[in-house]
Amino acid sequence: MANGGSRGRRSGRARSGGTALAGPLRDVAGDAGHTGHPPRMGFFTDTSVCIGCKACEVACKEWNAVPGTGLGLTGMSYDNTGGLGADTWRHVAFVEQRKPLGGQETGAGHDGTDVFEAARRLGTDAASPGPGATAPTAAAAPPAAPAGEPPPAPDGRTELRWLMSSDVCKHCTHAACLDVCPTGSLFRTEFGTVVVQEDVCNGCGYCVPACPYGVIDQRAGDGRAWKCTLCYDRLGAGMEPACAKACPTDSIQFGPVDELRERARQRVARLHAAGVTEARLYGADEDDGVGGDGAFFLLLDEPEVYGLPPDPVVTTRDLPNMWRHAAAGALTLVALAAAGFAGARRSRP
Ligand code: SF4
Ligand code: SF4
Ligand code: SF4
Repeated sequence: MANGGSRGRRSGRARSGGTALAGPLRDVAGDAGHTGHPPRMGFFTDTSVCIGCKACEVACKEWNAVPGTGLGLTGMSYDNTGGLGADTWRHVAFVEQRKPLGGQETGAGHDGTDVFEAARRLGTDAASPGPGATAPTAAAAPPAAPAGEPPPAPDGRTELRWLMSSDVCKHCTHAACLDVCPTGSLFRTEFGTVVVQEDVCNGCGYCVPACPYGVIDQRAGDGRAWKCTLCYDRLGAGMEPACAKACPTDSIQFGPVDELRERARQRVARLHAAGVTEARLYGADEDDGVGGDGAFFLLLDEPEVYGLPPDPVVTTRDLPNMWRHAAAGALTLVALAAAGFAGARRSRP
């Protein structure tokens, strides 16, 4: 990491002072032992205004000197990065759906616009035959629409919408990646964010299966774990994270998490009032399985559609119970062995 973890180097587990493994937690940084800390900072990503330009992905790579991932397309969509990983700390998902375009284009009124008619007019103008051209043959009948999908236009086109969403590390209130890290490479910052230090990481990989979102990843040929640092170095200098700075539509909004949650609730209410009833927040609920995310989203469909788990749970939540059961099991075995040993001694002649 060139810049991401250079500030506020930690040598131990800042989480060690913390007690809560699940549930709402008002003072995330305080729980990790920080005193006199600034407010918790995070992201509200409003996917309803994302245009898929990927400026956020590029800005993240540039600022943090994250290696390139090539230009191959996945074959599933116009997405060329596929998902978050050790070399993709921001990932813009392109989800193609056969659904009518909704009212998700804020500030632009398309009510009453017949896009098929407009496209037909354009096509007719472009393809108008010149003098002496032969008459076109009759067009084939348009295919029938699959069950449950909107009927095709007379020229066979169906309606399609793209959902675009810039995904990132969620900087969870209860971060299992941090809980299981044995070296203190992962730590909670004074801003309440979760940062990984590449020079402390020993490549054990415990954090990778611990993350309920599949975010943190080991770099091929390197072995160490990498992910978004929420631009810790920029925050320390009073700067906005690079991805939020580069976003031209303010789809990525950075600020104090409490303020962002309030802004997000108002945005959902506005969208609902405008008829976009499928708008919902993801990761903004303190009562969810991770105690709420520091980076949360406004989605226009179910989380699974965007590749997000519908009900994430911090994977270390049940550790205390598991240890209690393991200890009870071990004590029972010891007691049985001792009883067997004593019984054998008594039965000797
Ligand atoms: S999303 Fe995963 S990597 Fe990010 S803080 Fe949460 S558990 Fe850690
Ligand atoms: S906050 Fe910084 S490290 Fe995280 S995705 Fe944005 S640019 Fe990348
Ligand atoms: S989040 Fe912003 S910068 Fe990223 S793809 Fe969407 S519009 Fe572009």
